Amino acid sequence: MDVDLLVIGAGSGGLAASKRAAKHGAKVAIVEGDRVGGTCVIRGCVPKKLLVYGSEYRELFAEAESFGWSAKDPFCNRAKLLENVRSEVNRLNGIHIKALERAGVELISGWGSFADAHTVKVGERLITAHHILIAVGGRPQRLSIPGAELGWVSDDLFVQEDLPDSITIIGGGYIACEFACILRGLGVSVTQVMRGDRILRGFDRELSDAVQEGMQELGVNLRFGLQPTTIEMNGAQMDLICGEERLSADVVLQATGRQAFLQGLNLDAAGIEHNQHRIGVDEHQRTNIPHIHAVGDVTERVNLTPVAIDEGRALADALFAGGSRVVDHDLIATAVFTQPELASVGLSEEQAKDRFGDEGVRIHRARFRSLRQSLPARGPRCLLKLVIEQATDRVVGCHMVGSHAGEIIQMAAIAVGMGATKADFDRTMALHPSISEEFVTMA
Ligand code: NDP
Repeated sequence: MDVDLLVIGAGSGGLAASKRAAKHGAKVAIVEGDRVGGTCVIRGCVPKKLLVYGSEYRELFAEAESFGWSAKDPFCNRAKLLENVRSEVNRLNGIHIKALERAGVELISGWGSFADAHTVKVGERLITAHHILIAVGGRPQRLSIPGAELGWVSDDLFVQEDLPDSITIIGGGYIACEFACILRGLGVSVTQVMRGDRILRGFDRELSDAVQEGMQELGVNLRFGLQPTTIEMNGAQMDLICGEERLSADVVLQATGRQAFLQGLNLDAAGIEHNQHRIGVDEHQRTNIPHIHAVGDVTERVNLTPVAIDEGRALADALFAGGSRVVDHDLIATAVFTQPELASVGLSEEQAKDRFGDEGVRIHRARFRSLRQSLPARGPRCLLKLVIEQATDRVVGCHMVGSHAGEIIQMAAIAVGMGATKADFDRTMALHPSISEEFVTMA
């Protein structure tokens, strides 16, 4: 065999697995047809978060005068922001390539395709491997409606030289809401269209309501109960037609979910079971072919970077260092980088009531305008919420909408994961003045 481990896909999961396996002494190669870094680094988390930072200045400038600063007529050079974000992405791409070199992992450029269960073809080259890891991630999914190919998906935003003046965004999930806030913050006129009656379905209802209120204050035009039927050009404008309604903007963005990127892999040549959405794996990341594994978004378990990384490392440890750790897919903290930001770990109120019954759940909440917003006397109010299992006093859900929610919930996740009770939270001395002190003082 040419290598001990051949990884297909140099995104978060593939990079983590390949470097960890090489560290354990395995001979490793990694195949990538696009840029090293994958969704997270090239067209996801990293450039998105930089754009979030860029877009937040609008509100900061609006509040600056109440703190004595003069900030008249601030202007955002959006082309410069996009260019700066791209150069940072290029820098990180270079760092990841160097890290592979340093780890002794061979990078093979090209698209991988199974020739048989131990062989992958890249261009004319055939590589044989004892173990193969599929870590090819996902791709944005376009709607199946006429004109869908005219609209953008999230990948398209990152390659623009400048931003449109107006946009219609379809979807109410992570990407739609984050992009709506980013673009609104950068001065774009944004209409966001949902087929349902709320944004961020699946999150605690009170939290998504709080984000919704904040987004509307930000100036995002939220439209509910509209089912897209057609996208078509109307002169220089792009129209989204939803039944009787026609919404015109410069661009339509489809943020309607992502799908495993299985095209071209030729999984059948290796006998790997799959459907069009995912490759099935067991708790040790094994497909139905025991020496072929899959991690990350291609498995459609939880589409989050840290999950893919953890799965990749656990696999490398199991294959080459005798590890047997099973990745814990419960209690994964998550954040939506909207304005205001939402972050969450554990059960929503609705999920907890489903599990423990209405009487089996206690809710504590604090909703307030933070000290930070007191001088400007504007800006979204925070919401902090604890979901408690009544019988045990255990905190089974910890949620927040407000500044730095992601940073705060990351730390709270440790306590929730350790089984902390409300009494444990109450016993913790408050750090004053802060927003998160409310978590340990709320009645
Ligand atoms: P989501 O699954 O979060 O949201 C998809 C949205 O599209 C929903 O509002 C859904 O509506 C809507 N939708 C789906 N199909 C249709 C349709 N046919 N017509 C109209 N609307 C439709 O997907 P995203 O693309 O936003 O994100 C994909 C994944 O990427 C996330 O699940 C998350 O795991 C990950 N991600 C994480 C981020 C983070 O950690 N901050 C940031 C970005 C992405 P409905 O609610 O009615 O089903």
